[in-house]
Amino acid sequence: MWKSIRILLLLAVLLAVALHTWLDRVATQSWQEPLWVGLFPLNADGSAQADEYVAALGVKDFAAIEDFFGREARRYGLKLEQPVHLELYPPGSRLPPALDPSAGPLGIAWWSLKLRYFAARATSVPGRAPPRIRLFLLYHDPATLERAPDSHGMQKGLVGVVHLFADRGMAGSNSIVIAHELLHTVGASDKYDPGNGSPLFPSGYGDRNQDPLYPQELAEIMAGRRALSSYQWDMPRSLAGVLIGPETALEIRWTH
Ligand SMILES: [Zn+2]
Repeated sequence: MWKSIRILLLLAVLLAVALHTWLDRVATQSWQEPLWVGLFPLNADGSAQADEYVAALGVKDFAAIEDFFGREARRYGLKLEQPVHLELYPPGSRLPPALDPSAGPLGIAWWSLKLRYFAARATSVPGRAPPRIRLFLLYHDPATLERAPDSHGMQKGLVGVVHLFADRGMAGSNSIVIAHELLHTVGASDKYDPGNGSPLFPSGYGDRNQDPLYPQELAEIMAGRRALSSYQWDMPRSLAGVLIGPETALEIRWTH
């Protein structure tokens, strides 16, 4: 008797979690009103450079990202003029839990639970409506780090951890990384080869019908790189050189 009740309770919890995830997905892929995305900047390495950079951040530093989503939505015939609304929150002081690069599937699952718990607490700011999507922007001093750690955007939990460089000259590439992780949270998948980073053909190409094919003029956002030849690629300087390809548009339900 008690055993059945326990099993029933467990099933109810699992069902509630699944329902919640499904409702999140429906709400973030309906594109009936602007999707509210909260940006939570953080000093990732404790450096003075990151401190200064984070303190100087303003809404206008992220305007290119809103413009990018607006421009691409228009191209796909979305009725919504502004699909994504970005809200900048004051810099936080606690860093999200870090993912051990050697973590297995269980380790990743545990980390994602901890991250969701962290996000729930870190993003409740008195007097402000909670955003639908939460992105933690971790700024690093480029002098101390050659390559930023891997960023993660997750549809389950609607949360992202985004590693960026605290350098004005890299604001354009930072915007590309933020848009990429934001798209992960609404269901887009990567379109590059995880082994070497090359854009996948055709889904990771800006224009699969371009003639000649190389060099590609634009990059697809979920590839993040522009194919210069079959074995060379580079990152565009800003979102002006990036588009949302048809496979990504389908994944985020801009098309059906
Ligand atoms: Zn990705």
